[in-house]
Order: sequence, then C-alpha cells, then structure tokens
Amino acid sequence: MWQVRWDNLAAAPIGDLLTPIVCEEWPHEAYDGLIEGDPMRGALALAASPFGSATRAALDVALPAGVPVVLWQRRQCLKCKAPRTGPCPGADFVRDIAAMLQQTPLQELPERVRALRNDALAPDSTTPCGKDLVLLWDDPYSQPPPMKRPQAPDTDSRE
Ligand SMILES: [Zn+2]
Repeated sequence: MWQVRWDNLAAAPIGDLLTPIVCEEWPHEAYDGLIEGDPMRGALALAASPFGSATRAALDVALPAGVPVVLWQRRQCLKCKAPRTGPCPGADFVRDIAAMLQQTPLQELPERVRALRNDALAPDSTTPCGKDLVLLWDDPYSQPPPMKRPQAPDTDSRE
C-alpha cells in the first residue's frame, strides 16, 4: 500500500493531491474511512501540529496505512480551542500550502519545502505558510545514501 500510494502521488502536482485535515475532533474510524481505504490519499496537510492537536488521530491512521507524505506547520491552531466561531484558522494553512505546491511534482517536494521555509524567513515574505513547515517524507524506493569515500591518496584501494 505504501508503494501504491507513492506511485499515485506521481500522477499530478502535490498541491492537487493533498488531503486537508482540519482541527476538528474526528474519531479514528472516520479517518479509517477517509484514508485507509483510499489509495489515492498519499499526502496529507494538517491544519496544526499533530503533537497536541486533534490532527494526531489522522497521523495515527495514516502512518500504518502507508501514507508517505505529511505536511504541517510546527505550531498549534490556538484559535481552535473552544469556544471557536467560524472556520478553523489552520485551514488557511492547508489551503495556502496546496496553492504553493500547485506546480510541484513529488520528486521536487523536499526542495520546494526547503525553499518555502527559507522564503518565510525573509522580512517581506509573501509565503507565511512556509514558516516552520514540517515535511514527513517516507520514500519507499529510497536507498541509504552511498558513503562518501575519502579521497586522500594514501587510501586508494584500487588493486
Ligand atoms: Zn484549527
């Protein structure tokens, strides 16, 4: 399932394939229905950090189900503490990050996330959704990077 979801993510820009997860309290069963049974759901955008918010339930379902890509901002959606009126403010992040990834294919996502994080640090930044952006990236095809061999002449091991 992990590889199937990954391969499906190659079909379109990531911005088109993000599943938004807002701060509302959903039971695990609801996420089971949304995520587990649908192989097209390979990338989630959480409205708040899963550590200390209701979005944690989505992550708890997504990881064992083989979802390889999850994005969030390292902050809580404080305005979602009750009582709240109106929509989840963290939903703005979810919408904005989807827009920022409208041209981004899967393989370029880590680099794009790095660029958005850097852009968000600039004083005149127009991409606040890059601030403290976290990417969980679990490529099922990745190999550990090759060890860099020392190039010192006395370690030349050719025979
Ligand atoms: Zn919220």
